[in-house]
Amino acid sequence: MHKTFVAESNKGMVEYLLGAGYADARVADAMLSMDRKAFVPPQYAEHAYDDYPLPIGYGQTISAPSIVAVMSKELDVRKGMKILEVGAGSGYQAAVLSYLVGETGKVLTIERLSGVAELAKRNLANLGVKNVEVIYGDGTKGWQPEAPFDRVIVTAASPDIPKPLAEQLKEGGKLIIPVGSTYWQDLVLIEKKGGALIRKDFLPVMFVPLIGEHGFKE
Ligand code: SAM
Repeated sequence: MHKTFVAESNKGMVEYLLGAGYADARVADAMLSMDRKAFVPPQYAEHAYDDYPLPIGYGQTISAPSIVAVMSKELDVRKGMKILEVGAGSGYQAAVLSYLVGETGKVLTIERLSGVAELAKRNLANLGVKNVEVIYGDGTKGWQPEAPFDRVIVTAASPDIPKPLAEQLKEGGKLIIPVGSTYWQDLVLIEKKGGALIRKDFLPVMFVPLIGEHGFKE
């Protein structure tokens, strides 16, 4: 399991993430631009920069900053890319990715709970983030109207790799997803090469479950 930390400011949090190797320079820049406090409910504001997941309501969570950093780094996001996220939650991960893809890129983030989708929209609008589209629906089916994607990121625990997400990934693309049980998972990085899926399991994690047609059942 990774080490946790407590920080006083967004800058302090990002310095820690960079020093500990969770973030690289590009991910650190993105996280500096997107203050985590803007995505945390007011009652948890004093913990906004601590390395813990926090409740966002509806039984859901905003992921720990080290996990957001590692997933963003491993995805190796470039300017102009089109990214699909499954599990919008607070909108924080999408905001970090939106900075990495820049104005010429786009992030689509799907959320299965309408109240949470509205929360993500509000948080992103408050920060003036323009290149993220929040979609309400079952993200295990992907989003065919905008496929294929350069990168796919799933921020909820899945029993396996949902087939539609692998299909909607571009050749040469990368997909990151926690795979395992509803209690603990391995973070898995998939690369599509010559049509095949090359799999690397690299970090034990704990996410809330991915619930849907190609995930866990309700
Ligand atoms: N990325 C989020 C953030 O930055 O705050 C954290 C995501 S939270 C750990 C997981 C989210 O996935 C929850 O909001 C949950 O409702 C959502 N979720 C679960 N199953 C889903 C599905 N099939 N499609 C879309 N969202 C789903």
